[in-house]
Parts: sequence; C-alpha cells; structure tokens
Amino acid sequence: MGELATLFGPKRVAVVGATDREGSVGRAITANLLADFEGDVVAVNPTKDEVLGLESHDSVGAVPDVDVAVVVVPPPIVLDAIREAAEAGIRDVVVITAGFGESGSEGARRERELRELAAEYDLNVVGPNSLGIMNTSVGLNATFGPENAQEGSISFMSQSGAFVTAVVDWANDRNLGFHNVVSLGNKAVLDESDFVREWGEDPDTDVILGYLEDVVDGRAFVESAREVSTDTPIVVVKSGRTEAGASAAASHTGAIAGSEEAYEAALDQAGVLRVDTVQDLFDFGSILAGQPLPERDGVAIVTNAGGPGVMTTDAVGDSDLSLASFSDDTVERFQDALPDEANVYNPVDIIGDAPVERFEEALDIALADPNVGAAVVLACPTATLSYEDLADSVVDLQAEYETPVAATLMGGSSARDANERLSRAGIPTYFDPARAVRSLDALREYREISRREYTEPETFDVDREAAREILESAARRDTNRLGVEAMGLLDAYGIPTPDGEIVDARADAVEAAERIVGASGEGDGDDADDDGDGEVVMKIVSPDILHKSDIGGVAVGVPPEEVGDTYEDLVTRARSYQPDATILGVQVQEMVDLDSGVETIAGMNRDPQFGPLVLFGLGGIFVEVLEDTTLRLAPVSEASAREMIDEIDAAPLLRGARGRDPVDEGSVVETIQRLSQLVTDFPAIVELDINPLVATPDGAQAVDVRLTIDQEQL
Ligand code: ADP
Ligand code: MG
Repeated sequence: MGELATLFGPKRVAVVGATDREGSVGRAITANLLADFEGDVVAVNPTKDEVLGLESHDSVGAVPDVDVAVVVVPPPIVLDAIREAAEAGIRDVVVITAGFGESGSEGARRERELRELAAEYDLNVVGPNSLGIMNTSVGLNATFGPENAQEGSISFMSQSGAFVTAVVDWANDRNLGFHNVVSLGNKAVLDESDFVREWGEDPDTDVILGYLEDVVDGRAFVESAREVSTDTPIVVVKSGRTEAGASAAASHTGAIAGSEEAYEAALDQAGVLRVDTVQDLFDFGSILAGQPLPERDGVAIVTNAGGPGVMTTDAVGDSDLSLASFSDDTVERFQDALPDEANVYNPVDIIGDAPVERFEEALDIALADPNVGAAVVLACPTATLSYEDLADSVVDLQAEYETPVAATLMGGSSARDANERLSRAGIPTYFDPARAVRSLDALREYREISRREYTEPETFDVDREAAREILESAARRDTNRLGVEAMGLLDAYGIPTPDGEIVDARADAVEAAERIVGASGEGDGDDADDDGDGEVVMKIVSPDILHKSDIGGVAVGVPPEEVGDTYEDLVTRARSYQPDATILGVQVQEMVDLDSGVETIAGMNRDPQFGPLVLFGLGGIFVEVLEDTTLRLAPVSEASAREMIDEIDAAPLLRGARGRDPVDEGSVVETIQRLSQLVTDFPAIVELDINPLVATPDGAQAVDVRLTIDQEQL
C-alpha cells in the first residue's frame, strides 16, 4: 500500500464536529461511520456530552491513537481543528466543511492557509468541500451520503460530491461494488494524481474510475497515470470545456491545439481511457473489473434473435473489433449441433425456439474456436427459454474458457433475476447490444494500453547557445514574434532547412540568389536541364506580417533576371499592406521540390496545464481547414514520433500513394524529435510552427518558421 494506507484503512476515526442534530452533516457522517466500520468511532464536540450513544470529547487531542480526523466544524474554526489534530499526531484529515476556495476571497485565503498547514505538518488532506471517503473492505463510510457502497474492486474518485451519492445509489441497484470512493472536493492538498498513485499500488483496486472537471497538475497526472495504467485500467470522464488560450493563438498550432485537445492528447498518452458519458464510465469500469482481456479481436455473437443479431453486427463494424470468422471445424460442429434453419456463421442464429441447452452448446462451440477473442450472448425472451438457466450456463462457460463475455438478455422484468446472476459473476449485462460491443471494445483498447512500452526520448547533440542567442536577439529587438529570420534556431537544433539568406538591398538579393543557385547546382548535374533551373524563392521578412503569402509576400520560382524587381515588389507590397510595418528585409531561399514532396506541419503550443505539446500533420495553407493533425506532450520519443505519422489521415500520401516515391520518414521522425527537444529546452518558446515542413524522398526540409516567445522566460 502507498502513502494513503492509513487514510483508507484507519483503526480509529474521529468526527470533529459530531452532532446528533437532525438533518445535519455531522450527524449523517457519525451515523454512517457507526453503521459498518470495523474500527472505533470517536465523537468530538465540546458542546455535547454524548452523540448517538458515543461519549463526546472536548478535543481531538483528548483521545489517543486517532488515525483519521473527519472535520465538519464551521468554516472559521476548521483550521484550528486541523492544527489540533496535527499536534496530536494525526496525519490524515478529511475536510467536509465547505466555504473555501469555491466561495469568495475569504474562502480562498482560508484554503491557502489550509495548504500551508498541510505542508507544515505533512498532512494528507481530502477536500475541503468534500462529501467524504469510503473503503468498503473495512466498512468505512466517512461520507454524509445516504447509502454505503457495496464491496467491489473499482476505486472511484469524483470532483463532484453530489455525483458520488447518485453513483453509489445507482451502482447498488446494479450490484456494482467499489473498493474506495473519494469525493475530491476542492483538491487543496490531495488531488487526482495522489489517488491514481495510491490505487495503482493497491492490490484490492482492479479499476480506477474518475469524474474530473479539471486536473490540478497536468504533468504530474500524466506521469502518475502512465506508471499505473499499464497494470490498472484508468477510465475518466472529464467535463467542463474551456476555450482559454485558443482565441489568442497566433500560430496554426496554437489554433488547433486548444486545451480540449491538450487534455485528449495528455490522457491518451497517459494510458487513460477517456469517455464522454457517465454510462460509458461505468460500462467500461464494470467490464474491466469483471472480465479478462481479449487475446484476439474476433467477436462471436450467439443469439436466438435475427434482428438484434444484425444490430450487434453493425456495432462490431463501428468498433475496432471484428466479427470472428469461425474455423471449418467450428462450422461443422455448429452444423451437427444446430437445426437446419440455423445460421452457423457469425452471428450464430440458433433460432427462436432455442431452449437453454442449444444456447449453451452453441456458446461452448463458439468459445472453443481459436479465432474468438470475446463473445456477446444475445437473447430475446421466448417461451422455450429460461433466462435464469441461460445466465447460469453463461457464467459457467465464461469461467471455463476465461474469455470475455458480455450479455444482452433483452427485456424488462423477465431479465432482472438473470441479469443479477450475471452481474454478480462479473459478466456485464445491457439492454442495448451496441453497449455490449462498446464495452468489449474498451477491453480491447485497454489490452493495447497494458502492452505499451514507454521509451525514453532521445537527446540530440545540438547548439543550444546559438539558439539562445537568436531568441535573445529577438528580445533585444523587443518583439515577441519571430519569422524566417529565426531559421537559425532550426539549424542550431539540426532541423534541415533550405539554403537561404536575408537581405535588405536589391543588389544583395541578386547576389544572394546567384550564390544559392550556384551552391545548389554544384555536383547535381541532373538538374541542369530542368525548367526551374536557377530559380529561387523570395519572401518578405517582417514580424508584423504573420502569413506572408496572404499579402503576396512570397514569390516562388523567381528566375535570376527577376530577382531584383521581385525584391522591390515584395517591399512595396508589404508597405502598402501596413505602412508602419517593421521590415527586416527579404529572404532569398533555395527552391524545394514540392512536386515530389508533401507539405506537412510540425509545431508546438504550450498548454497552461500540460506544458509543451508537439503537433504534426498535413501542412501548407489548408492546415486549419483540414485539421489533419495529431498531438503529443513533449518530449516526444522516436516511437511516439512514428506513431504521430501513423495517426494522420494523410499518412498514405507520405508512404507513396498513387505511384509516388515514399518520403524519407526517418527524417520527418527526427525533425519531430528535435523540435520537441528545442521547445523543451526553451520555456520561452510559447508557440511555434514549421509550416511547411516539406517531406520529400530525400529528406524533410523546414521551409518556413514562425514562433512566439515570452521574453520573461528568457
Ligand atoms: P507563409 O506561410 O507565411 O505564407 P511560406 O514560407 O510558408 O509563407 O510560403 C508559402 C508557401 O510557398 C509554402 O506553403 C510553399 O507552398 C511555398 N514555398 C515557400 N518556400 C518555398 C521553397 N523554398 N520552395 C518551394 N516552395 C516554397
Ligand atoms: Mg508557412
């Protein structure tokens, strides 16, 4: 057990603020503790002699060996009560009292003091503004909810206390049990990361469920969840969406990587199954707690009802599972066992008149098939079928084969007893077969998470000082926005860029073009006859012009004789677009072969919760329209960078669709890693876009760059 072993497994609990006043929170908690708790309950209230049959003490320090103090006194005396408990050697405190950070500046100050007090005495504090905690294995119900939970192997944390009471009530109705339940309250001291870590070490917790509205420390959460999630599944429903940050974004990456996307990427990377609905939270939680993981993706459907069989088949089609194709041997066995009218292929339809024996035999044959990784038992009520007997057979066969099974015994009261038998044996039941399939799919998804291997990100040899100098020179110019004048930043981190030079006079432009063309022509005899020979790209360089091509500030394929005029032209355009724009000059750049390449984007946005997120996707001018992108928290390992390429829809374009040569994927992967190292090394970089990063068969080239810096961080 972890650091919270005493919090969840105390021998003696004191209710500070215990009372027998009808309808009060103090009474509810005292009564709940007295109901089932295996240890001692101590009442503390100087104004009483006795509370619900317990002797009432003047102070928590008056009773020895108290492990946990549950504090329900009025807000102004909460801190004194906690200090008293701490002085008496108590390290674990549950603060039920509200009126802290959630209610005005006085409350916020009180919460700050609570945090300081906890740090001073090294206290584990749940809350404040918490409904309390439960540990069913010792009968501990230190909440003021109306019902105690049943025993089970799910540990559940909720940012909403009201939701806890609703869930416990609902779960009791479905024989769904919990090991620990925590109402997180304001999370002043203990937060979601602490409980994830604790339950990850707890042998009695098989599944961790969370209802979260926010995450206190994004990075810490990802770290602890990642460590835990390969052994213990974590399912989280996160509510509350914020737009913060997205509106102020100056880069494409900033616009795409808002905080919702950050959460999604972070939870995914942490191996957390994120769900959108409470139904999925408990569907997934109960199947993960009750069933083994499927070894294969093939699902067998065994049913006495044709129509629902089709619905289930459709649901399998919508999932990442597949309909198992049976072996010849299995098909033969079905033919021998079932009537002629039966369908012996998947979904196996054993016909409406099937008695329980036929169901049992068919399920037995299906589960024995080597291609079957999971089964859905799907039935409609008929006069020939006893649901209770069917439930018993399913329970036995599931135990025999140790293959995950989900049951859909359709119906209302006729299915109630059977469903209870199934759910007591850990087999989830649903009315809607689509839910059964989704839940099995969650098992598959978790199987993938459990097999994950995390690799450390690589550290490349880079010129950090050169990069720092570029960022500092921007700060000296007193600008937060940098464009292609910062290409050197990429060079310093080993990200390939085309040859280029920034000039501020017409004659220099001509000279730069000659040099660049001469250099690129060298030893490259093949290109000598190309139409584009001798051409360059020219771009206006101004911190005030974010999207250069929008104002006609990019000229591609400029022949040598037009370089001078194009220079004048670009400057004139920039002036007429914004007369007071700061113009640093014109960049003359080597042409990159776009015909054989794909314009991709590699970027970064710094999220207030999760830190730097690296983006990769299809680039060019349509990036925000198509939004074919994917995100990772930096630093990004080589394996993750490869996955990022896999994840975009345009991946086949990079891999040689329609007879094109595949691009040099390794070079793209390395660019993503190097970019990730750059933004990790420099917290001053707030946003960054390399768009386009042209991926060609000969390697990736960063053709354009744009970034925003925070000078204070330099
Ligand atoms: P901005 O994004 O500010 O408009 P870019 O430098 O990205 O400016 O240029 C816009 C487009 O011009 C690119 O998406 C690409 O299609 C093309 N382009 C830019 N530089 C080059 C180059 N060196 N070689 C070939 N095409 C280029
Ligand atoms: Mg661009």
